[in-house]
Amino acid sequence: MPIFLKPGREKSLLRRHPWIFSGAIQRVDDEPASGGTVDVLSSKGDFLARAAYSPTSQIRARVWTFDEEPVDADFFRRKIHSAIRARETWNLTRDTDAIRLIYAESDGLPGLIVDRYGDVLVLQSLTTGSEFWKQTIADILLEETGLSTIYERSDADVRELEGLSPVTGILRGTITNHQLRFTITEHGLKFTVNLAEGHKTGFYLDQRMNRLRVRELAQDRDVLDCFCYTGGFTVNALAGGAKSVLSVDSSADALGLVSGNVASNGLPAERHARREGDVFQLLRKFRDEGRAFDMIILDPPKFAPTSAQVEKAARAYKDINLLAFKLLRAGGILVTFSCSGGVDAGLFQRIVAASALDAGVEAQIVEHLAQAADHPVALHFPEGAYLKGLVCVKR
Ligand code: SAH
Repeated sequence: MPIFLKPGREKSLLRRHPWIFSGAIQRVDDEPASGGTVDVLSSKGDFLARAAYSPTSQIRARVWTFDEEPVDADFFRRKIHSAIRARETWNLTRDTDAIRLIYAESDGLPGLIVDRYGDVLVLQSLTTGSEFWKQTIADILLEETGLSTIYERSDADVRELEGLSPVTGILRGTITNHQLRFTITEHGLKFTVNLAEGHKTGFYLDQRMNRLRVRELAQDRDVLDCFCYTGGFTVNALAGGAKSVLSVDSSADALGLVSGNVASNGLPAERHARREGDVFQLLRKFRDEGRAFDMIILDPPKFAPTSAQVEKAARAYKDINLLAFKLLRAGGILVTFSCSGGVDAGLFQRIVAASALDAGVEAQIVEHLAQAADHPVALHFPEGAYLKGLVCVKR
């Protein structure tokens, strides 16, 4: 079933970008099924791609393939096989038993995320296309991994844009309560992950290497871990010999899990403190109290999921980074992140620079951080590069 693009609107597809926006479409012959496969043709009728149709989304279709090949179970088997094999080749499982096996557009499978936590696969289907093929994909995943359990966490807000309601629960096999509260081991440290209720698929796998970096830099420092969630950075800072770590989050549930993660790694509870509250307010309070730290980690939630919220997001980033610069002692380290798709690396760096300027602080960037290698970025899909981090040293 074909969809025809407007004249000139084939350009992004020729550059192998996988999204077709509704405004680029001239006409659709018959209304295709939600998630069904359509041929995308130029205004002249030339074949451009085969894509999954999404009747209500602004992104009206997402490309499965730029070749005139069948989109069927064999197609998905090849894609899934190669994504999983790639992770083996990259030797990523040497340091962790929790890893992203399939990262959506970046692995040529728009809308599909699959993470492995020990013997359990957690699947997130975000688009009509991945939804259409979900059962086929689930069968192939079991065959390709030799595992028997898939837990579904298709409860991300973006599904709404695709006209899909949230779905969670067992997709294949059975799962015990013990498995749902799985303890991962990452770079020798243990974290209890709640696969049913945790953020994303349970844990921020994308920060894996950055947690390790914090461990390496934390020795003898007073550390403030803002937006700590279940304590990924906190535990690493303590393991790296931090003098003290204060973990801050607005979620009491998340904070409750931090202490458990500190304890299960045999780390000194007397060096660790927690504080429930709003980071924006607490940073101001700490400033007014004249408190100071040697390392501050800022890993806030997505302030700008898309480019529409960029201005508001920029103000929020500026606010917390400015306050953090003020709270750092000379020689102190700011480890600051943005996971907003709408804020690119260049803009984020400019925001952090403006924060230092307004704080009256001189600082250097000593390192650029990004998402771990199991979250690769297809070069023709720069949107896949969402996590940016800077390690700055205050002079
Ligand atoms: N650093 C974490 C991930 C952070 S996720 C890790 O590596 O695992 C973002 C966290 O920010 C969530 O736990 C959420 O509860 C918290 N949060 C969101 N808005 C907040 C606010 N205004 N103040 C404090 N915490 C907030």
